[in-house]
Amino acid sequence: MKAIRGATTVDFDGCEQIRERVKELLSDIKKANNLSDEDIICIMFSNTSDIHSFYPAKAAREAGFASAPLFSSSEPEIEGALKLCIRVMLLTDKEDKPVHVYLHGAKNLRKDITERLNIAIDGPAGSGKSTVSRLIAKKLDILCLDTGAMYRACALKCVNEGISCTDVKSVDGIINDINIEVKYENGVQHTYLDGMDVSQTIREPKISMLASAVSSIGSVRNKMVELQRKIAAATPCVLDGRDIGTNVLPNAKFKFYLSARPEIRAKRRQAENEEKGIFQPYDEILADIKKRDEQDKNREIAPLKRAEDAVYVDSSDMNIEEVTAFIINKIQERI
Ligand code: C5P
Repeated sequence: MKAIRGATTVDFDGCEQIRERVKELLSDIKKANNLSDEDIICIMFSNTSDIHSFYPAKAAREAGFASAPLFSSSEPEIEGALKLCIRVMLLTDKEDKPVHVYLHGAKNLRKDITERLNIAIDGPAGSGKSTVSRLIAKKLDILCLDTGAMYRACALKCVNEGISCTDVKSVDGIINDINIEVKYENGVQHTYLDGMDVSQTIREPKISMLASAVSSIGSVRNKMVELQRKIAAATPCVLDGRDIGTNVLPNAKFKFYLSARPEIRAKRRQAENEEKGIFQPYDEILADIKKRDEQDKNREIAPLKRAEDAVYVDSSDMNIEEVTAFIINKIQERI
């Protein structure tokens, strides 16, 4: 059995806000720990004594946490304590390392968890996030983790094994044999599959589509997310992906969601590919990008979505330097 901790605050003592914040806290805890309702043994809340208008446990029940036993209690009044705070402890029979979640004003309670310099940059294909993430990491002298490369390597493993990336049973069957490592050479990420550097091969357009398919499989996501969290826990870094702010690192202090019009993204992808010696017609790239957006946004597990607390950047009419400067400014304002 494991205990997962979390806390959030409300801005005022009102039923609606208590409902919303409890729902957000529990759904972030569920996502971050990959829990289903059946994994939850019980949920216990406490709230500071300045909260009177609604029971957090009732808010949880209303938010759909109907099967687990729920409990709420009020804390004694402690001088100097954080005000309007709701704390939670959720017991689960999952044995994974718990990811504790602290939101809103409660982030201050656990700065050790919430203030590591991890920067989440999410967004669709071709939004410029890989290039921008690399430039930001260089500027801040921290690592950059391209999480898409890991899903691409999973897709390549399936190709090598002659397995379809949509065949969940077969992918589940080889998941424990997928050996992916990320190494840095002169600050540049190299992705290894079964001991081989596959950084080039995984950039092929057909691998992009297959990566999108394989990344919707639960066992693949569990394994990749665990690896990503390990890297992020060990070192400050910029992580670029689709679900970093919503799922991999919900406590990240800095979250950005980068997007651009599909036509612009397709043009950028074409130029980027041509630099790598990969030639594909524009119309095909645009169609692939739209299809991948559709798959990534609509999959059941950890879909591509802007985290509520992520800064949205539409880079359609900005160049890479402008986007990078904008993000660096936002980070430096709060460091
Ligand atoms: O970012 P990139 O285009 O290399 O990602 C390839 C695919 O991997 C994406 O289309 C997406 O389906 C998947 N992916 C993901 N979660 C991430 C990063 C990538 O599902 N964090």
